[in-house]
Amino acid sequence: MSEQYICIGCGVKIQTEDPALIGYAPQSALLKDDIICQRCFRLKHYNEVQDVNLTDDDFLKILNEIGKSNSLIVKIVDIFDFNGSWLPGLHRFVGNNKILLVGNKVDLLPKSVKHNKLINWMKQEAKELGLKPEDVYLVSAAKGKNIKEVAAAIDEHRKGKDVYVVGCTNVGKSTFINRILKEVTGEGDVITTSHFPGTTLDIIEIPLADGKALVDTPGIINHHQMAHYVDKRDLKIITPKKEIKPTVFQLNEEQTLFMGGLARFDYISGGRRSFVCHFSNEINIHRTKLENAEELYKNHLGELLTPPRIEQVDVFPELIRHEFMIKEGKMDVVFSGLGWITINDPGAKVAAYVPKGVHVLLRKSLI
Ligand code: GDP
Repeated sequence: MSEQYICIGCGVKIQTEDPALIGYAPQSALLKDDIICQRCFRLKHYNEVQDVNLTDDDFLKILNEIGKSNSLIVKIVDIFDFNGSWLPGLHRFVGNNKILLVGNKVDLLPKSVKHNKLINWMKQEAKELGLKPEDVYLVSAAKGKNIKEVAAAIDEHRKGKDVYVVGCTNVGKSTFINRILKEVTGEGDVITTSHFPGTTLDIIEIPLADGKALVDTPGIINHHQMAHYVDKRDLKIITPKKEIKPTVFQLNEEQTLFMGGLARFDYISGGRRSFVCHFSNEINIHRTKLENAEELYKNHLGELLTPPRIEQVDVFPELIRHEFMIKEGKMDVVFSGLGWITINDPGAKVAAYVPKGVHVLLRKSLI
């Protein structure tokens, strides 16, 4: 493409190569008088926000823009991947703007998880990561749970200001915005081209009743997400589609569990005891002796231990070992983006392995 086209909707440079990246439009769109990117097209015609991804540089530009704004920030995280879906750096740019933290995908949690415990944990984690939200909400964007409450909170806290919605890819930001739009606009078609302001920051402003805007920022690719290391098809396996069912394993000392080939859990010492696994129902958990674990992984990654797929084994990152001594009762060993294992009683020595770059952490059990 030699000539440079600009989207009349959001002002971004048009490209025709990669549908997943910003500014994509099919070749046929270039023949029109008013060229519009696919994302704006969908918003205009279907009232639907579409995913686009950003590079780290673009992300900094957006953060700068948010920092300069006088707005309410709504930050979405995936509660199943809290640390992996946390946007690093946001706290340095928020300035005086208030933040609402929204944990999405609450429908995936087993019934036994206490929502107030999870909210408290999220508040505490947020604080440790440098962010002080006004409030924390748990929602299911897909199922519409608690959307009304969040819509009301947004309206209360924004005090006539614009609203920026931020989140990294796959947290459900688009699903969330589409839900909120339905909530505030009904089914009516409020979005027309004339509402699209010409910005150059790849952000879409959705008009609100008082002349302010709900701003959809592109999803940020966070390199710590487990989702990053698996094939698109396998993402469907590791991402739970419905409420996860806990599975209990009775383990002797020196036994190992493999979660497919994506993560490993060694029970080192502490006497025979039970471990409650919370992973997508479709992940195969394989039990073996600790002394055989290394060999098994080397010889069967991509076959017995899958995902990753056999053709990905060569590029799959090595697993990094993190050792923990469980000193209190009821702790979760969290494999970010994959799930967690609950240990009921103190006194266990364990090791958790995840692909290099992915987080493992210990938290007080949510159950
Ligand atoms: P975005 O990249 O942040 O815009 O995320 P999307 O809205 O495209 O959603 C990413 C994935 O998460 C999709 O497969 C959605 O179906 C799924 N998803 C979004 N919201 C929810 C939710 O509340 N519950 C569940 N279980 N899945 C959700």
